Amino acid sequence: MLILLLGSPGAGKATQCAKLQEFYKFEVLATGEILRKEIRENSALGQKVKSIMNKGHLVEDQILIDLVTDELHVDRSILIDGFPRTLYQADMLTQHLEDHGKRIDFVIYFAVDKEIAIERVTGRRICSNCGSLYHTKYFPSKAGDMCDKCGAPLYQRVDDQLDNLLIKLQEYDEKTQPLINYYEELGLLKRVDGNESVMDVYYQLIQSSVKFTEMLE
Ligand code: AMP
Repeated sequence: MLILLLGSPGAGKATQCAKLQEFYKFEVLATGEILRKEIRENSALGQKVKSIMNKGHLVEDQILIDLVTDELHVDRSILIDGFPRTLYQADMLTQHLEDHGKRIDFVIYFAVDKEIAIERVTGRRICSNCGSLYHTKYFPSKAGDMCDKCGAPLYQRVDDQLDNLLIKLQEYDEKTQPLINYYEELGLLKRVDGNESVMDVYYQLIQSSVKFTEMLE
């Protein structure tokens, strides 16, 4: 099964992916995470995309298309978080799947208000050592700006800083938002209210017509 997660930064896609993984069995292809790993490893690709990503802009279509289509040969269920983000990427994905006798099963759209998305993203803090996630308002670390688990300092992702996030949201509005109609017209779109709490959104998902039960293994 192939499921795409669509929604602006701060819509809760990665959070719900992690929640679903507690119970269901699937692979997650999170394109932002893959690119951040390339940056950490200082690879040629990492060096190429670093400043674009930090400023909140989208990386070149072809880089993402190659990166994702290379990963789609597995037989297990896959959830893709962060791709496609442009109509061109969407067309190329459709074409690639058709060529390989595959298809998209569902596209889950997380609808979220801009103010909520901004509050979620700008408050996000990450442990520089173990990667644990915190939020200055919703899930603050007890030790202030240090990790409760390992004591290492917390940091804010450069693209989570307000200036860069606003560019990211603008990119989303201009280039990614049209995909909602694109997938609606294909009859694939399932909409959830991403403004709700983590558990509420999770219940919306498992009560939707998306067949997660096929991913129990
Ligand atoms: P994310 O972690 O999904 O917010 O992605 C972080 C950044 O990675 C984005 O702001 C883009 O710079 C880049 N990126 C991730 N996925 C894509 C994509 N499908 N197309 C273009 N750029 C992407």
